[in-house]
Amino acid sequence: MRWWRRAARQFRWRKTDDVYELLIAELLLRRTNARAVEQVYDAFLDRYPNKILFGNAKSRDLRQLLKPLGLAWRAENIVTLSKHLKQSDCEIPQNLSELESLPGVGPYVARAVLVNAIGLKTVAVDSNVVRVICRYIGLEPTDSLRRQKAFQLFADSLVNQSSPKELNYALLDLASLICRPQNPKCQHCPLLEKCCFAQHEKQKEAGCQEGKTGHSGQRKNQRG
Ligand code: SF4
Repeated sequence: MRWWRRAARQFRWRKTDDVYELLIAELLLRRTNARAVEQVYDAFLDRYPNKILFGNAKSRDLRQLLKPLGLAWRAENIVTLSKHLKQSDCEIPQNLSELESLPGVGPYVARAVLVNAIGLKTVAVDSNVVRVICRYIGLEPTDSLRRQKAFQLFADSLVNQSSPKELNYALLDLASLICRPQNPKCQHCPLLEKCCFAQHEKQKEAGCQEGKTGHSGQRKNQRG
């Protein structure tokens, strides 16, 4: 966590615990780079600063506002959510099962929202978090893991030692800045010493060096 307190990325949605603002942020962040979301998020909250105004938004205006971010399915989900909120007195539930069942929300978004809104002790598991955890514990990362209950329980067990909010942001920032899909920057990683993937890579490298030496030695013998 010491690393994260130094390296944490700053975003507007990280400074709020308002469930509506967090929900909008997480919906915009789906499959989208956080830096690209910043501008649209500001414009969205200027236009719809609260859930009442969002629930009464015109579909056409929402689509227009979301256009710069792409992903037509996301815009349609947000339109559907707005209509749904209008029908349910603009109430946004603050428990996991009800929140994740809202249109277009699902387990990841619901967890990410509730971690930051009410400090729910969980980890919002997406493919980036799967990658970091799997590399750390020496498991092959697969796409299906993020939907597996056992993996979710294991990820949640990590919260015991830290604040849920800090742990979730730390995992996201580590995945984005250091433990990238290609060429992870292990030398700069705070988990280096205990990371299975990094240790394995180190051994492989050492083996290669040895192999090279041994191999050339053998050739020498053959030649000699
Ligand atoms: S040491 Fe490397 S592989 Fe392990 S978590 Fe850090 S960046 Fe990822």
